[in-house]
Amino acid sequence: MTQKNIKDLSIEELSEFVIDNKFEKYRAKQILDEIYIRRQENFEEMTLLPKELRSILSKNFTISSFKSTKIRYSKDKSVKFLFRLLDDKAIEAVYMPWENEDGSKIQWRTLCISTMAGCPLKCAFCATGTLGFIRNLSTAEIIEQILAVEKMLNIKLSNIVLMGMGEPLLNYQNVVKALSILTKQNLKLFRRKRITLSTAGIVPKIYEFAESKVPTKLAISLHATDNHTRQLLMPITKKYNISNLMDAVEYYYRKTKIDITYEYILFDGVNDTENDIKRLIRIARRVPSRVNIIPFNDISFTSPNGFSAQLKPASKEKMKEFANKLKMNNVPVIIRDTFGSDIEAACGQLALSDEKTIYTQN
Ligand code: SAH
Repeated sequence: MTQKNIKDLSIEELSEFVIDNKFEKYRAKQILDEIYIRRQENFEEMTLLPKELRSILSKNFTISSFKSTKIRYSKDKSVKFLFRLLDDKAIEAVYMPWENEDGSKIQWRTLCISTMAGCPLKCAFCATGTLGFIRNLSTAEIIEQILAVEKMLNIKLSNIVLMGMGEPLLNYQNVVKALSILTKQNLKLFRRKRITLSTAGIVPKIYEFAESKVPTKLAISLHATDNHTRQLLMPITKKYNISNLMDAVEYYYRKTKIDITYEYILFDGVNDTENDIKRLIRIARRVPSRVNIIPFNDISFTSPNGFSAQLKPASKEKMKEFANKLKMNNVPVIIRDTFGSDIEAACGQLALSDEKTIYTQN
């Protein structure tokens, strides 16, 4: 029998387990404290717990999901982590320190985490899509990326973005369970508004997430304003078109009152016309939102072909002009910096590209 990782259990499941084993219910909360506050990594060291319970836990559960970790440091101070999972699959996470304007201190310590190994969506601009779908990450594997990075860098992260490998809303159950642990009040890990879930637009799941107990900030990878162009860039548009997506976004906002972020990679000659600006203004005005204009990160290391190979970033001037026109129409907009492009750690570049050359020793 393969053992479950203890971080796969909700507080309710832990309570059930301790009660079934004839311990008092409050022991479940102590187990959570040991894992998430005291950050114990083996059951024997959980000294808040009676010895007998510790030994029952170690017989029934594992506590670690990663076999090994490789780290790469970027010139821009971002750090890429490659975690080898117990079944030898690999995933990546990227740490990004955002400095304040004069660069005197770090304002946000953000970790971009994965929710799948690989991804089924095959967006034309994204390196992860070239891997195809490998598997969903468990709740424990999602959470452990955070705990591992905080330990290795000896920092407290301020923000989490679910923007690494995978489509979080297609791994809905495990993601929502991870979010409910990460935002549990008495564990003091993260507030809901410090977590952003980024989605390519899995419409029914956006409704479900709005109704859940743990809605977070929501980022929509929009990248085009008409269905034809969006289908070329993001095949998921064939299943859920822009109008369906906008209805879901509106519902999400009305239900949660959390502003929406639209992500928009500006491609030269593809989604940068005056008509795009007009349509984007209309989209952005529907509910309180802001637009992040994202520079296209080169994925040529994956040897793209077809439409993907034709994609080129818009120039810096074009990005500024595009952003200014949105601003003039009162659409809040920022041009996002890119982190980690020298180590293939930027958005959309997570594809284990350099695994063979860089991560050789184990
Ligand atoms: N599946 C989710 C989360 C992963 S993608 C989603 O689609 O949102 C995370 C972000 O990276 C998305 O906004 C995505 O569009 C962006 N991205 C992907 N490839 C990129 C690239 N080559 N350059 C810049 N951004 C990219």
